Amino acid sequence: MLYDYHLHSQFSADSEMSLTEICETAINKGLTEIAITDHHDPDYKDPTIEFLLNKKAYLAEIRKLQQKYKGKLKIKKGIEIGLQLHILTECNNYLTDDFDFIIASFHTAEKADLYNGDFFRDYNQWEAYLNYLKTVLAVVKVYQNYNVIGHLDIIRRYGEFVSKPDLLTNKTAVELISEILKIIIQNDKGLEVNTSGYRIDQKNPLPSFSILKLYHELGGKILTIGSDSHQPEQIAHKFKFTISKLKEIGFTELTTFTNRQPNFHKI
Ligand SMILES: [Zn+2]
Ligand SMILES: [Zn+2]
Repeated sequence: MLYDYHLHSQFSADSEMSLTEICETAINKGLTEIAITDHHDPDYKDPTIEFLLNKKAYLAEIRKLQQKYKGKLKIKKGIEIGLQLHILTECNNYLTDDFDFIIASFHTAEKADLYNGDFFRDYNQWEAYLNYLKTVLAVVKVYQNYNVIGHLDIIRRYGEFVSKPDLLTNKTAVELISEILKIIIQNDKGLEVNTSGYRIDQKNPLPSFSILKLYHELGGKILTIGSDSHQPEQIAHKFKFTISKLKEIGFTELTTFTNRQPNFHKI
C-alpha cells in the first residue's frame, strides 16, 4: 500500500497538473491513497507570485473526484500552509474543519523569502540555517493547528552555497532540531518525509535520514511520505527506496489522516 501525501494541482500557482491527471497517475502507479496539498501562503514575500488558495472551489473539486474514484483511490483534502510568526492567527482561522490533513511548511523566515534568496542576503551559510531553525522553533512553540511539519530542513535547498551540509553536523543546529522535534512529539504532531529532497541530495529526502533517525530516537511515530509533485512523473518518486531506509532506521508504520486524525499502517 502506497500513499502520496504531498501533491500540488493547478490550484497552486506553481503547478499545472489537473486533479484528474493526479488521480489517474496515482492509480497507474499503484497508489491506494493520496492527499492533495495545495499551497496557501498568506503574506508571501515574493511579489511575483501569489500562493493563495481558492478554498471553496478547491474543496468542491476534490469532493467531486472523491465520488468519481470511489473504490479505486482514496483522495484526502489536504493543504500545505506556509507559516510565519506574524500570521499565525490568520492561518489558524483559515483552516476550518474541511481538511483531512494539514502540512505546516516554512517557505519564508523573518519576513523574507527562501526560494528567491532574499532571506540569505545578510547571512553566511550557517547563520542562515540557524536563524531559519529558530523561526521554526518559535512557531512550533505557540502554534498547533497542523498535522506534520513539511520538509523540515528545506533551508538546505536554497542559498547559493557550494556544499549543502547535513544540519546535524552543527552543534547548535542539533540543539534546535532536537527541541523542535521534542515539541512536535509532545503535541502529537509529526514529520513528513518529502522525496523531492533527492533533487538536491541524491541520498536524502527532506528532512535527511539523520534527522529522521533523531526523530525516531526521540520517540517520534507520526510520519507521512510525500513527493511534493508539481508534475505527473514526480508522483511517488523513490517511495520504495525511502520506505526501506525508514525501516532500517526502525520505523514500522506510516501515517495517513482522516479529519486530521492519524491512521497507522504497517510498512
Ligand atoms: Zn513546500
Ligand atoms: Zn509543496
